[in-house]
Amino acid sequence: MKTDRYDLIIVGGGILGTFHAYHALKKGLSVLQLEKDNFPSGSTVRNFGQVVPSGMADEWFTYGVRGLEIYQSIQKEMDLSVRNNGSIYIASDADEVQVIHELSAHYQTKGYAHELWSKEQVLAKYPAINADYVKEAIVFHQELSVEPETMIQRLHVYMQRAFDNYTLKYDTTVIACEEGNASVHLTTSCLEVFEATKVVICNGYEFKLLYRSLFDDSGLEISKLQMMRTQPLEQIYLPGNILTGLTIRRYESFEEYCPSFHTIPVPERYKELREYGIHILFKQATDGSIIIGDSHEYAAGNRLDDLGFSVSSHINELMIAEANRIIPMKSQWISSSWAGFYSQHKDHILEVDISSRIHVRTGVGGKGMTASAGYAEKSIEKLV
Ligand SMILES: Cc1cc2nc3c(=O)[nH]c(=O)nc-3n(C[C@H](O)[C@H](O)[C@H](O)COP(=O)(O)OP(=O)(O)OC[C@H]3O[C@@H](n4cnc5c(N)ncnc54)[C@H](O)[C@@H]3O)c2cc1C
Repeated sequence: MKTDRYDLIIVGGGILGTFHAYHALKKGLSVLQLEKDNFPSGSTVRNFGQVVPSGMADEWFTYGVRGLEIYQSIQKEMDLSVRNNGSIYIASDADEVQVIHELSAHYQTKGYAHELWSKEQVLAKYPAINADYVKEAIVFHQELSVEPETMIQRLHVYMQRAFDNYTLKYDTTVIACEEGNASVHLTTSCLEVFEATKVVICNGYEFKLLYRSLFDDSGLEISKLQMMRTQPLEQIYLPGNILTGLTIRRYESFEEYCPSFHTIPVPERYKELREYGIHILFKQATDGSIIIGDSHEYAAGNRLDDLGFSVSSHINELMIAEANRIIPMKSQWISSSWAGFYSQHKDHILEVDISSRIHVRTGVGGKGMTASAGYAEKSIEKLV
């Protein structure tokens, strides 16, 4: 059978696979990217689209900062839906204030620009926020947001226009990957065969199609997150990414760099919310609707089905009640609710080199919209 041959094949059309393809194309390689669905429908389109390096630690912070540059450089050439409205983390009690002050001290040493805002400054910029909730805030003006579904589809269009040596195929499921003498052969569920010098598999949380047993013992977990969207709300204007008290008590940067993170007491009202991994984030989309989330439930990487397909009303009610403490909300404003899933790994990402030509990169967890662009750049430098 005649096969098409490429320098690199990427399996997976999500953000991590797409930025691997992008950086390989920048290096002049011929790239084929294969996505099993009719358009990306995994983690990459079900999220907030907050690009927030401020929440990340160690090299993931650096990848996130590089990601800000990459998104903005592409946005200059084509509208990907990238907006530079910044991020704000709102502290709701004295303990959370202490933690954001410690993060500020850390970012001063790193030279990462930010401001500490008083309650009055927060309310002047966000009059919709409940005054009783706000104590102080830390603000990062340089951070971005994207509309996830629009962004990934436009990024694919941009890459098709910008690079002659890029081929993208949706609706193409890879079911086998075999190494020959000097190349790898990929077979699809339609029994098409493609050949490449190298393959990078960015399969997100899909572990049943390729290298099934590898994922059984990989240490990967899958998280199920519940999200809600309001109808467009003309009366509320919320520019940027809004992160709140429970986020300050959850994100890696606070855990890693703020000594008080580990000692502050957990108020009684947070206890049930934390059982479901709830912290409240808001992002107003370009149509005026507000995305509210999220919760976290976990299963082993090979047990996605255990997480179920339903959206729990109880979890949604808990999130609406906490959201309502922050921004007065009516439950009838909620127009849709969905479950998103991502895979995560204790080492922050799963990197497995099946051979010198076949590489698995997945499990980027809740950081992918922020850190994939920067991480994939380093990853392609190492692999190619
Ligand atoms: C609810 C939610 C909120 C989030 N919010 C944020 C946020 O605000 N900011 C942030 O930085 N991150 C956020 N994240 C995390 C981010 O969405 C993920 O880290 C990121 O999208 C992972 O990208 P991925 O490409 O690895 O996976 P995916 O987007 O799942 O892509 C993997 C793709 O591979 C395809 N595939 C798998 N196997 C095959 C095969 N054999 N053949 C062909 N195709 C295959 C799948 O169909 C899928 O499209 C959030 C995630 C969720 C779920």
